[in-house]
This record gives sequence, C-alpha cells and structure tokens, in this order.
Amino acid sequence: MSSLSCKKCGSSAVKKNGRTTTGRQKYHCKACGVHTTTEHAAQERAQQLALAEHLHYERVSQRGIARTTGLSRNTIIRYLKKSTSRRSAPP
Ligand SMILES: [Zn+2]
Repeated sequence: MSSLSCKKCGSSAVKKNGRTTTGRQKYHCKACGVHTTTEHAAQERAQQLALAEHLHYERVSQRGIARTTGLSRNTIIRYLKKSTSRRSAPP
C-alpha cells in the first residue's frame, strides 16, 4: 500500500474503493477527493486505444479491432469518431 500515490495530487493518502465494472481496483484519494484507477490501468487503456487507431488506419475491420484489442465495438467507434474529428480539423 505504501507505493500507492494519487496521480492527481501525489498524496499517499489513498484508499481502496471498490472495483470498476470491468474488475479494476478503484482508489479514492483522501487529500483531493478524486476517485480513480491505477496509473497502470490508465496506461493499458491508452495503449489499447492507440492500437485500435493504428489497426483502423491499416483498414482492419471494427470487429477485427475489437477481437484484437479486447475493447468493445462501441468503445472503438466512439474513440475513432473523436480522434478522426480531431485529425481532420483544418490547420
Ligand atoms: Zn489526490
């Protein structure tokens, strides 16, 4: 427990606070009041989404991306809509 610290404020006054619907451990910071998962979980998800985007540009089907990354199709579609609208904005 001593290695845990809040990723928002850096305080070590964090307490386990249940699990997410996907089974990840949630934490509550007593110092700043934020509810969050671990840094590792956030990094893992960012990697999955980056892989999903890469596969999308390689023209892999959405179902194929879902099988490869383990993300749901709805998550992938939502993320790709967001990232392509960011990308296609005129300079
Ligand atoms: Zn905090």
